Amino acid sequence: MKKYDYLIVGAGLFGATFANKMKENGKKVLVIDKRKNVAGNVYTENIDGIHVHKYGAHIFHTDYKDVWDYVNSFVEFNRFTNSPIARIGDEIYNMPFNMNTFSKLWKDVITPEDAKKHIDEEKKELNCKNPKNLEEQAISLVGRTIYQKLIKGYTEKQWNRSCTELPPFIIKRLPVRFTYDNNYFNDRYQGIPIGGYTKMVEKMLDGIELKLNTDYFDHKEEFDNLANKIVYTGMLDEYFNFKLGRLEYRSLRFDTKTYDTKNYQGNAVVNYTGHDQKYTRVIEHKHFDNTCISDKTIVTYEYPDDWNPTKEAYYVINDDKNNKLADEYRNLAKKEKNVIFGGRLADYKYYDMDDVIKEAFNCVEKELR
Ligand code: FAD
Ligand code: UDP
Repeated sequence: MKKYDYLIVGAGLFGATFANKMKENGKKVLVIDKRKNVAGNVYTENIDGIHVHKYGAHIFHTDYKDVWDYVNSFVEFNRFTNSPIARIGDEIYNMPFNMNTFSKLWKDVITPEDAKKHIDEEKKELNCKNPKNLEEQAISLVGRTIYQKLIKGYTEKQWNRSCTELPPFIIKRLPVRFTYDNNYFNDRYQGIPIGGYTKMVEKMLDGIELKLNTDYFDHKEEFDNLANKIVYTGMLDEYFNFKLGRLEYRSLRFDTKTYDTKNYQGNAVVNYTGHDQKYTRVIEHKHFDNTCISDKTIVTYEYPDDWNPTKEAYYVINDDKNNKLADEYRNLAKKEKNVIFGGRLADYKYYDMDDVIKEAFNCVEKELR
């Protein structure tokens, strides 16, 4: 008999949820992570009373009531609503695309009808029912004016590709609303854990054996012998030693600065949608937490970056070429009988946090059936 029922590779949200649920069901689990901390990409660090989102800004939003109840069983959430500002040159617009954006762009827009008139007129340019790429999708959603000012530059910086070479689904994530509502998400529930995400994940992993600074691949055979099943949340292609070729990712570089001022930019998230700055977003962490009383502020400039094996893989690239290769790896994964693949990197999917937790719920349920 092996020592553990499950060895879980990765202490991010997928691994932590799976471990927590299995422990609840009396299973013996060991969690390992190559990083020095738990929480994967949602890791937050308390610096001078400010919860800094070390791997990029994370706002929890979901329509799944079971996922919302689950995360709230570990920590209380605040009522933060994401309402980013987009800056192009010296102009400021509200995101996502809504009546505040439209009325600032076009001086004659007051009512939804006024806005629709402008957008419908611009959409005629394409008259496209099945957008083939992100540019066509964007123009058919909001027209060329908004595409040029608020989408094209941001997207090309983010993905380092022309919008004509990117899949349409990326931009469909963003709402287009004919109401004066700056909420970035349509989901029913939204907020940030009071005390930070790290506190939440630590609670999920409470009482569970954990080994940090431990790379699965450094001792794969030894780990495989320890547990009946492996739960793998790392990179899909890495699991198979890249034998079919490498999947592509996008990386990010974070430049974090402390300023001796209480309020630097007046909002948690400011998007830079032009090519004049190389960063896409500037995050002022204290604004995620309306109880923060620090006299200073911590600001992170987020620079999109080409990925290579020495960098973190932040975004999967779900274009045709990579999806095809990912499918080939998924076929190999199906044949690994004692390995469960889950999470953003092992599924090679552009998941939000709630998707990852929901997927872990489903995997646990399937395992216990
Ligand atoms: P991860 O958090 O990546 O965890 C995987 C873990 O596995 C890591 O800790 C890693 O170190 C470990 N690991 C990998 N390989 C090995 C190995 N060989 N040995 C040991 N350990 C290993 N989602 C939202 O819902 N809202 C947001 O606002 C939001 N903002 C985002 C902003 C950015 C910049 C990014 C990149 C993502 C954002 N997301 C957001 C998505 C969110 O981060 C993910 O959906 C979620 O964190 C993925 O969890 P995971 O467990 O799948 O992966
Ligand atoms: N996007 C944009 N302008 C913005 C913000 C986002 O064009 O000001 C586009 C861009 O293509 C991006 C996509 O919308 O990749 C999804 O944005 P989201 O904020 O959901 O991305 P994430 O939080 O995953 O980085």
